[in-house]
Amino acid sequence: MKRLIISTAMLLPLSLTIAACAETEEAGASGEVNIYSSRHYDTDLALYDDFTEQTGITVNRIEADADALIERISSEGEYSPADLLVTVDAGRLWRAEEAGILASVESETLNERLPDYLRHPDGLWFGLSTRARVVIYNTAAGTPEGLETYADLADPAFRGDICIRSSSNIYNISLLSSIIANEGAEAAENWASGVVANFARDPQGNDTAQIEAVSAGECRIGVVNTYYLARFAGGDEEQRAIFDNLGVIFPDQTGNGTHINISGAGVVTNAPNRENAIAFLEYLTSESAQQYFANGNNEYPAVTDVAANSAVEQLGEFKPDTLNAAEIGRNQREAVEIFDRAGWN
Ligand code: FE
Repeated sequence: MKRLIISTAMLLPLSLTIAACAETEEAGASGEVNIYSSRHYDTDLALYDDFTEQTGITVNRIEADADALIERISSEGEYSPADLLVTVDAGRLWRAEEAGILASVESETLNERLPDYLRHPDGLWFGLSTRARVVIYNTAAGTPEGLETYADLADPAFRGDICIRSSSNIYNISLLSSIIANEGAEAAENWASGVVANFARDPQGNDTAQIEAVSAGECRIGVVNTYYLARFAGGDEEQRAIFDNLGVIFPDQTGNGTHINISGAGVVTNAPNRENAIAFLEYLTSESAQQYFANGNNEYPAVTDVAANSAVEQLGEFKPDTLNAAEIGRNQREAVEIFDRAGWN
């Protein structure tokens, strides 16, 4: 792996000198790469520095909300300096794909390192870390018998029990998209209505708010992403006390597997430094970069033989749903319509 990165880096200065000079005076001999990222973790800064040290390529970054970045790259058009879009959730990567701002990449390194379900089939984007959307419950209220699947969340046995955030939230849209892909639209619609009937309260707050509400006993059951749980599990005394009241269920372990989503990145259509962007993507799949990238937000590394951090690991092992993340993107619109009809605010 390391050898591959180094050999790619050695080739870069030759091909990039002209482009780098034309782009900007300050760029070093090995050129630069312009990263538009909706992630904002200090650990990502360490990755940029390490990449520069290894390759001599200068990293310039613009950080903003994913939709704002997609909008910006679209409006900059062929003059966009953007080389790589880094963002969270298959739904947002799909929006970027729909906007036509991502270009196909074929890389042996990326294909070897990343499982195929975490890559766009045409190489428009690559998943670099994952998070699972899991069920939590208040242990003092007892283990919810018979709650093993997402479908079970719609069971009338759990009437008045469920806290979950609003349907405008992309994590829920992606979860429902996966249910459409796995079970069909009709089952997805019945599921959404059934879960609405089981709400403990109107959807409010983010995943952290659901964790606090379930821990405090305001609702018996919640649905949240694993990295929020890991923040509590690996947090200060007060946060750990909140986590200690919770049980975690990874749904669908005997079926499709638990729904996961990705942090990922794609090379931009008019990238002025395309080769550098690919080199950075490949760098992100190295073992040390995978750990940094995943740890920045308590996620699971996309490269399967790299371990997650201890707070994440303590949530338990599970079988992930290997539905391609591109499929999750494709069903977003239908998912939003189903949520509306189900009255899920
Ligand atoms: Fe989040």
